[in-house]
Amino acid sequence: MSNQQAAIEIIYKLQQHGFQALLAGGCVRDMLLGRTAKDYDVATNAQPADVMRLFRRTLKVGAKFGVVIVLVRNQQVEVATFRSEAGYEDGRHPTEVRFTSDAEDASRRDFTINGMFYDPITEQVLDYVEGQADLKKRIIRTIGHPKERFGEDYLRMLRAIRFSTQLGFAIEPETYAAIGRNAARIAQISGERIAAELEGTLVHPNRAAGAAMLIETGLAEAVFPGFAGDSAPQAIAVLGQLRRNVDFPLTLAAFFVGHPTDFAMNKCEVLKLSNKQTKHIEFLLSHRGGLLDSGMSLAQLKRFLAEPCFRDLYELERAIQKAAASETGLAHLIDLRRRIRDLGDVDVKPRPLLNGHDLMRLGAMPGPSLGQLAEELYIAQLEGEVASREQAGQWVSEWLRRHRSTQ
Ligand code: ATP
Ligand code: MG
Repeated sequence: MSNQQAAIEIIYKLQQHGFQALLAGGCVRDMLLGRTAKDYDVATNAQPADVMRLFRRTLKVGAKFGVVIVLVRNQQVEVATFRSEAGYEDGRHPTEVRFTSDAEDASRRDFTINGMFYDPITEQVLDYVEGQADLKKRIIRTIGHPKERFGEDYLRMLRAIRFSTQLGFAIEPETYAAIGRNAARIAQISGERIAAELEGTLVHPNRAAGAAMLIETGLAEAVFPGFAGDSAPQAIAVLGQLRRNVDFPLTLAAFFVGHPTDFAMNKCEVLKLSNKQTKHIEFLLSHRGGLLDSGMSLAQLKRFLAEPCFRDLYELERAIQKAAASETGLAHLIDLRRRIRDLGDVDVKPRPLLNGHDLMRLGAMPGPSLGQLAEELYIAQLEGEVASREQAGQWVSEWLRRHRSTQ
């Protein structure tokens, strides 16, 4: 059973019991656009207690705010009581919700295209906010006065840019101007919520347009103080050259491509990314240019290839060189690819032929020089200079002789 079927089944049952029940928000927008919706949300005049009584399996996630999750077979559907939100004191959380009518529920939503309902039983669209007209015009417009609506919840500024990017819609001029005037306030929103909207914007293939809006409105500078400046155009150009499907860390590295690694890592802290994502970005930025080294040894190349983020590093470098229209840079990368192809399916991260115990058995002393020896031996192994334990043993004896004679 699909999420859509589950939602319709729930609506049918609610209507059978005399309640008003409708599909709401993003799924209506996507249906009217002929896009597949991520999930189907239900809005109803039934109160949370009614919903929990009518359906056998429910999760009481936000009953206080009128939201109950109904489980139907393998699907979860959000069923929300029509509500209005009032008293946004901090630009983040409503201090009060009131259960109301469908029309009022529509008017608390963010953008006109997100403010429509659809009755799947009568197949009718309920549009109190001129959402259909704006869908036709392909614009993102706040419901009501943009200044007020952004003042209630600053996150909506980033959401406007995310929807504009994902749908390829323009942001209506007054709405866009209001983002520019209020951008600095975004700093009051939690890093996790900012990160989620940035991710939605930057992972979309239309990411260059999204980044350009983030920069032009001042939101980029507000989230990452010190970001704005000469390097912003490079960020947009490099994002524009990335292949269609890429992960968030690669797009963030591209976004910060005009800045030093330390600066970028410091700025990304606000996003509260996972350790893994942070490491990923740091690897990409700190190895910028590394693949262009035409004197790269075989061992260095294998070490790059053994990195889990190697493909992303290559993609970032390709996009940087493409954005700069650098013939030599791109030619270097083509050479590199040829070199990698010629390696065939060689093991780029073989087990060391000898371990620490082996080295000490051969006469190496514990201490820093042991680490040095192990490192040099491993490089020799990657270079193909030693291929067996015996050869490695000989190589170590020579190394020890050389190093003793110089001490
Ligand atoms: P997506 O397809 O990306 O999930 P969506 O439109 O479904 O887009 P959600 O964040 O899932 O967006 O929110 C569902 C609906 O709830 C929106 O369509 C909108 O009507 C309303 N909504 C969500 N966040 C806000 C907000 N910050 N302010 C006002 N309304 C909001
Ligand atoms: Mg949604």
